Formats: sequence, structure tokens, C-alpha cells
Amino acid sequence: MARQERFRRAPRAALIGWQAVSLAAVVSAVCAAPLAIAGLAGEGSGWAAWATLPALLLSGLVLGRLLWSGHVVGTRLRTARREHRLLVDALGEVVDTDVRVLAHPTPTAYCLPGLRSRVVLTEGTLRALPEDELGAVLAHERAHLRERHDLVLEFFTVLHQSAPPRLQAPEALREVRLLVEVLADRAARRVAGPVPLARALVALAGATHPEPALAASADPGATRARMALLAEDEPAPWLAALVYAFSAAVLVAPLALLGLALGSMGA
Ligand SMILES: [Zn+2]
Repeated sequence: MARQERFRRAPRAALIGWQAVSLAAVVSAVCAAPLAIAGLAGEGSGWAAWATLPALLLSGLVLGRLLWSGHVVGTRLRTARREHRLLVDALGEVVDTDVRVLAHPTPTAYCLPGLRSRVVLTEGTLRALPEDELGAVLAHERAHLRERHDLVLEFFTVLHQSAPPRLQAPEALREVRLLVEVLADRAARRVAGPVPLARALVALAGATHPEPALAASADPGATRARMALLAEDEPAPWLAALVYAFSAAVLVAPLALLGLALGSMGA
């Protein structure tokens, strides 16, 4: 899916697709071993009794890793964001209820998601960007906050970190990060137009930001991809419909197999 760059033109549908694939993988990973044992038992195999406990342990391990990863990632992110927000509130100048400006010459812009969310700019950003480009940046950051993109990214980070190293797919995580940026870019383009947004992206390219924040700038490859997508029209509705249909099929497949397996055991 990460190689299918055309999905980026329908970023919301593509994100749903990624979530469907991930959920289907989790359901499969948790149910696979117990179902295999149930199948053996159904065939009257003597192995079933021996393998039941290891199978349940395996499922428990998968589930346990997921929950533990969720706890660790969630706690780390929320603590880091809270501490950073306190710092920004103490040091930054209030220019709007949710916007703080730090006295620093390097242009950068990012947001701190959460219940008391903040958009953080530097004095360098205010100096470097004219009003329309600044409007584009603010619209981009506020789209992240409004649509809670942090929760989407947290979901994928948890799955990524709970997967065994051989099954981890960093390109999937990179693609999801890019899709979230494209979504915020779409929102900003509607408010400010494509040209001011593109100029602001160039001005902020390469800017650094704290790790737990969502930033307007990203790695150069992602910025190039986003610039190219800025020039694209909204996608044809059939593309999004295709991705939604794919998502539904991917989610239904393991559940249908589960139902079939249970049904055959009952028969
Ligand atoms: Zn962003």
C-alpha cells in the first residue's frame, strides 16, 4: 500500500484503509493460534489437547504486547506534551488563545495536541512569513488539532512498536505520517490557497521541532511529495470509494474466516 502513491490523492480514505489493514492484522494475530487448535480438535486430532495452552499463551502474549505498547507510548507522549506546553506557556508570548510565539530566530511552526492544545511559532516565523502564508500555517496546524491527527498517529505508533521487529513496517508509519500532513495541507489550501501554503512549506522546510509535536515541516522527501500534491485537484469520488470498499473487504475478511471456522466446528 505504501507504494500506491495514487492513494495519497484521497488521504482521508487512504488513512481509513491503513487502519482497516492494521485492525485486520491484529484480529488475525490474536485469533490465529486458538482457531488452529479448534480446527485440530474438530478433526479429532490428539495434538489439540497438548497445543491448547501454548496457543492461548501466544494470543495472550500478542494482546499483552499491544496493551503494554499502548500504555508506554500514550504515557510518554502525554507527559512530553504536557511538559512542553507548560514550558511554552511560561516562555511564549500569547498572540491568540491557542497560539504562542517563542523568542527564537529560526522559523518553525508546530502544534501540541491534547485537551489544552497549542500552536507554537517563533519570532523567526513571524518575520519570515507574510500574512497570507502565516494564515496557511495556522490553518494547517489547527487542522491537525481539530481532526486529532495525533490520535491516528498514536494508534499506528502503538501497533508499530508492539509488532516483532521482523514484522515492523517503517514505510507504513512514514506513509501514514505523510497522509496526515496531506490532510492538514488540504484544509490549509481551502483556507489560504495553494500558493501561500507552498511558499510557507518552502520557508519552513528543514525546521526542527520537538519530537512529541506535530509540525508543519517534515523530512525533505515528504515536503517534495506534499508540494506535488498541492497542485493536484481533489480526487475523483471513485478513487475514495474504491479505497473505502477495499477497507471494508480487508476488515470483513478475517471476521468472515473466523465465522466460517466457528461454523465448521459447530457442524
Ligand atoms: Zn503538519
